[in-house]
Amino acid sequence: MHEIKLYNTETRTVEPVKTHEPGRLTMYTCGPTVYHYAHIGNLRTYIMEDVLEKLFAYAGYEVKRAMNITDVGHLTSDADTGADKMLEGAKREGKTAMEIARFYTEAFFGDCKKLNIKIPDIVVPATSCIDDFIALIQVLFDKGCAYMAGGNVYFDTSKAVDYYRLTGHSADSLMVGVRDDVTEDSNKRNKSDFVLWFTESKFGEQELRWDSPWGYGYPGWHIECSAISLKYLGEYLDIHAGGVDNIFPHHTNEIAQSEAAIGHEWCSHWFHPRHLNDKSGKMSKSKGGILTVSVLEEAGYKPLAYRLFCLQSHYMKQLVFSYESLANAASAYDKLLSRAASIKAAAEKAQEEPDLEKLAEYRERFIETVGDDLNTSMGLTLLYEAMKADISAATKLAVIEDFDRVLSLDLLSGEAAAEEPADDVSHLEELLVKRAEAKKNRDWALADAIRDEVKAAGYMIVDTPEGAKLKKL
Ligand code: AMP
Ligand code: ZN
Repeated sequence: MHEIKLYNTETRTVEPVKTHEPGRLTMYTCGPTVYHYAHIGNLRTYIMEDVLEKLFAYAGYEVKRAMNITDVGHLTSDADTGADKMLEGAKREGKTAMEIARFYTEAFFGDCKKLNIKIPDIVVPATSCIDDFIALIQVLFDKGCAYMAGGNVYFDTSKAVDYYRLTGHSADSLMVGVRDDVTEDSNKRNKSDFVLWFTESKFGEQELRWDSPWGYGYPGWHIECSAISLKYLGEYLDIHAGGVDNIFPHHTNEIAQSEAAIGHEWCSHWFHPRHLNDKSGKMSKSKGGILTVSVLEEAGYKPLAYRLFCLQSHYMKQLVFSYESLANAASAYDKLLSRAASIKAAAEKAQEEPDLEKLAEYRERFIETVGDDLNTSMGLTLLYEAMKADISAATKLAVIEDFDRVLSLDLLSGEAAAEEPADDVSHLEELLVKRAEAKKNRDWALADAIRDEVKAAGYMIVDTPEGAKLKKL
């Protein structure tokens, strides 16, 4: 089994991912809060998580991955204050919270499809697991880690083992209660305590409420990920993923409550892709005017050009979005498709078998390269290297197909590759030479006839400063 190395937020080092069961990986992903469209920043996180899952599968692991859909409980502040985001979405659009959830969950899946993000096998809306949340909160009560105050149920963080260990920061620098914009909740025993179940303080207009041993109410945001992960992936989780903003308080709280409930360490590796920002700062769903996949499409960009844009840089670096840099990625993407199409055509023409030994060498190098802290840009460099290498077209084709299992750029689907012709058009290239001669001899009739012949073959002649080029009609 190939070893995959990855930066671990908890240990602050790049280290091999050790799975609890050899050859089997469990992975949990914090899913979207479905009160609005996902913006391309959210989708950067999901793209990088997708590549990670596919890399493990490529390296021979059996992967079991689960993701929640946050359709209740996520307040406008991560610190248990403000309005429920779902309720805000519902108000904005004059719909019910469930209608909003259904609509934006489908929109999220649609975006994932366009970006070749595989939907995890297990996707669980929070509202479908209320009984599991209640059961987990009950365990926390039984273990003396939860208490009631002011009508709500809180987790007592003084009972957590090394509560701040994921962040690597001191309590003071992270204390939610001391942030200027957040008023302290006087019900809490410790400033870092958080709500497991709301009954009193928030629900003024809350639509979605359930009976519980502690009163009619609804769950806090953090409990859903612990409960869903424990239910579907068991007590030992190999990788937990989410954007960098999730480290505190969300993942910190997940660790506290999961470990308090199970009584031992829970998750061994924490994966946190950095944010995509725009020039004005962090992208945020609540800011309005957000950049979505549809907005990019309307501006004429293929969604997979955005995927390439993300793969070109390391997930641990913040990425600044601009249309200029997307345009560069889009042009690189078209060239990549066109080269892949040429190779495919050459391989089909040659009708050879790929060199399996060479293919295995490339596979090995790909896992080594991308498996060294998810270095996707070096993976792309290896792809370019293989495309230029002194190996048969059939072998190149096999390498492209193989790498694309992880990169998922549809390198051989051919659709966009049609922008530049593949190399089975040598007879048309010859006609271009003849046409150039005809023009030089001022034989316009012949030049026109050649243009018509090329057109009949499905290509247009485009005159450029570097000479005439073929473009597929
Ligand atoms: P949300 O729908 O707000 O719960 O976020 C969904 C995922 O996107 C979470 O993993 C967030 O951490 C992540 N995320 C939020 N903002 C950004 C951003 N600007 N860039 C990258 N990922 C983000
Ligand atoms: Zn989560």
